[in-house]
Amino acid sequence: MGFLSRLFGGEAPSAASAAPARPAVSTSGVQIHPSVDGGVAPAAPGFAGGVLRCGCATDKVEVTLSGQTAHNHVCGCTKCWKPAGAVFSQVAVVPRDQLAVTAHAEKLSVVDGSAAIQRHACTGCGTHMYGRIENQAHPFHGLDFVHTELSPQSGWSPAEFAAFVSSVIEAGVDPSRMDGIRARLRELGLEPYDCLSPPLMDAIATHVAKSSGALPA
Ligand SMILES: [Zn+2]
Ligand SMILES: [Zn+2]
Repeated sequence: MGFLSRLFGGEAPSAASAAPARPAVSTSGVQIHPSVDGGVAPAAPGFAGGVLRCGCATDKVEVTLSGQTAHNHVCGCTKCWKPAGAVFSQVAVVPRDQLAVTAHAEKLSVVDGSAAIQRHACTGCGTHMYGRIENQAHPFHGLDFVHTELSPQSGWSPAEFAAFVSSVIEAGVDPSRMDGIRARLRELGLEPYDCLSPPLMDAIATHVAKSSGALPA
């Protein structure tokens, strides 16, 4: 065994290199959100929308989306609605003209009228059915925020990243758990960010620059 085998391989790997790489942080038992804990399912090709329903036993609020969602992500902020027990919310956007309340609109109420995103929640069960931005100068005006796990359909756009990860501490998560949470997010292919993802932060900054004149409108 000499020069050629060293160049082209064929030698038994040493014990050290044969050992599986040990993850630096254990991710076993780390839960993020029920929609991603079992792995992130891909979107269905040609998926064209569906309905979201609240958690009430009867007289459910129903929201109909007439298109596929975009920019789905898990979010660690304390404002987004989370299903019981979830550490993160899961939230996507849809153009506001593709969202309609199709049953029991009378049960909806805005959670915090002073917030940039007006979250319309069911007064019966507390589920946030959609969030809407009324400020026309807001970078995301024209997009509504929705939680597609409220839908009986599958095929919605999958979560792509994790936003506001450090904010889960504000909701009571022990800071010592953060390494495991970030490692699990990466394992799921959901890159963790402590604000939004770089493309969305760039979109916000571009909007601000065009509004101020720093960039041509
Ligand atoms: Zn409800
Ligand atoms: Zn959020």
